[in-house]
Amino acid sequence: MEKFSLQDFQHKADDVLIRHKSILDILTKLQESSARINRAVAKSATYCGCIELHIKKQEIPENISYSQLKGYMKSHVDGGLCDVCKEKIEQELSTSFFYMSALCNIFDLDMKNLLEDYYENHLKTLGKYGLL
Ligand SMILES: [Zn+2]
Repeated sequence: MEKFSLQDFQHKADDVLIRHKSILDILTKLQESSARINRAVAKSATYCGCIELHIKKQEIPENISYSQLKGYMKSHVDGGLCDVCKEKIEQELSTSFFYMSALCNIFDLDMKNLLEDYYENHLKTLGKYGLL
């Protein structure tokens, strides 16, 4: 496989997107793909059972600093994805990336630049304080 680049992905998405070229199609397909991700995760718990979801209120001690908070936050997921569920979720995430790429193409936005800017200006500079 050739060296993969995000820009190649974005250009290829533009090449192959024919039927759903309208912004309305792209927005609704992006929303649909997000729902399918949620559905795939839910089916991993309710149909397959490879993961269990134990949703409850986060138990956070009083008087801890924001930097200590991460140590107390739970994902509420027990277990791990089986190969079948992992493949399904990967497929749904990939579809979502495809439609995000298509949305970027409509507005002439470069996904690589977006991610680099987000990394530099939010993740690296602001760190955990940038995601409040
Ligand atoms: Zn599974």
